[in-house]
Amino acid sequence: MRVAIIGSGPAGFYAAEALLRRTDEVVHVDMFDRLPTPYGLVRGGVAPDHQNIKAVTRVYEKTAARPTFRFIGNVRLGSDISVEELRRHYHQIVYAVGNEADRRLGIPGEGVSRCTPATVFIGWYNGHPDYRHAKIDLSVSRVAVVGNGNVAIDAARVLLRTPAELEKTDIAAHALDALRNSRVREVYILGRRGPQQAAFTPVELKELGEMEDVDPVVNPGELAGCVSQESARNSQQDKNLKILQSFAERPPGTKTKKLHLRFLVSPTEILADGDGHVAAIKLEKNRLEMQPDGTASARGTGVFETLDVGMVLPAIGFSLEHIAGVPYDEKARIIANEDGRVVDPVNRSVIANEYVVGWARTGAQGLIGSHKAASAHVVAHMIADGGKLAARELPERDAIITLLRERGLQTVSFDDWKQLDEVEVARGERRDAPRDKIVDVGTMLDILSQR
Ligand SMILES: Cc1cc2nc3c(=O)[nH]c(=O)nc-3n(C[C@H](O)[C@H](O)[C@H](O)COP(=O)(O)OP(=O)(O)OC[C@H]3O[C@@H](n4cnc5c(N)ncnc54)[C@H](O)[C@@H]3O)c2cc1C
Repeated sequence: MRVAIIGSGPAGFYAAEALLRRTDEVVHVDMFDRLPTPYGLVRGGVAPDHQNIKAVTRVYEKTAARPTFRFIGNVRLGSDISVEELRRHYHQIVYAVGNEADRRLGIPGEGVSRCTPATVFIGWYNGHPDYRHAKIDLSVSRVAVVGNGNVAIDAARVLLRTPAELEKTDIAAHALDALRNSRVREVYILGRRGPQQAAFTPVELKELGEMEDVDPVVNPGELAGCVSQESARNSQQDKNLKILQSFAERPPGTKTKKLHLRFLVSPTEILADGDGHVAAIKLEKNRLEMQPDGTASARGTGVFETLDVGMVLPAIGFSLEHIAGVPYDEKARIIANEDGRVVDPVNRSVIANEYVVGWARTGAQGLIGSHKAASAHVVAHMIADGGKLAARELPERDAIITLLRERGLQTVSFDDWKQLDEVEVARGERRDAPRDKIVDVGTMLDILSQR
């Protein structure tokens, strides 16, 4: 049985592990990624000051060491190889391509300079090759981060950390240099709804109160005014509320930088200065309206305020990038699927032997650990559907590599990645960091060619 997995993030690796563990069938897994480096958002999304979370890659290394696993990096589905070609070379295909596009605020002024999707800022500080040249201007003193999830928290935290807190991490060298000279002193995290509806996880929220040179600021009056009677309260929401209350009760802090957590405000316009840079963000105050299902939604009150900031980072979610030949669900902005089986987006009929896992299946929800069971669940469908598939004759196993090389592509194996890994770790030793990332695909490929 031969399976192609497209995408080497957590969902792809957990699917590979579930397939390779099978004892009833020998499964050969080829895992493709558009980058020469594996691990998806574990490398390019998870914040550099959360190295303990990045340690999950050791589990994926074990999967990669299995004898019937191959990593084929630097190959993008949709341009370097087509879905049709994959169908010819594999019995089954698993899309594990994540959610790489960002959602837009859809308000006037969003295109103004220094209004930058958080995806770009995060990719930039994490050394993702796509964002290495992003223009992140840290000469401003106040920044608004729009959104109430962990991504907003990550962006705010990295903006406000001291250089000493960051230099021992695997933050990209260009970002560390820029942050060393940053003038950012105040960050506002803006939530459309109240504290009980925020998607923060308590551990991440609490960490905001433990930073070296940052005081969290929550206005007690504002907090009290937006606590709701939402019926579906759970322990995460309760914990978040307690943490925010403890921030609100703190006496005014003396640290240099301030992190303001604001709720019940929706951005309605980004205002620019004469040079076309962000000068302020216009906000409409909201109130919570209880819905029949017990949830609370935000409704504008017609009362506006203007917050002077020099940069805006919208962090309001992600969506799937369109990939040629892969069925796209326009409404949910994911790969069209029924419980992980890919379907035609119009008539919902199943497209045989094609599956989807991870954020490409569900949208951007769920932490790394959640993908283990979710990917195994989809693999169970693959096993149930795939009984006789292995009987279908396929081209030689190496034919796919030959095809890619004939196209002039330099594919990257897992051993190649281990060489890049070694180089990065050695470079990191200079600043006592776990690694100093290579941020440019050309440089990665040159290093491998020279070796
Ligand atoms: C900023 C940020 C911080 C996070 N922090 C945490 C955290 O601290 N803890 C935690 O548990 N979770 C965290 N998460 C969530 C976690 O990263 C996700 O749950 C998880 O990475 C999703 O896994 P995935 O495999 O679906 O997608 P991804 O990790 O995005 O992997 C998708 C892979 O597909 C590849 N790909 C995309 N398109 C193509 C194509 N056309 N051809 C070939 N390859 C392609 C990409 O290069 C990528 O490697 C964070 C997420 C973000 C955005």
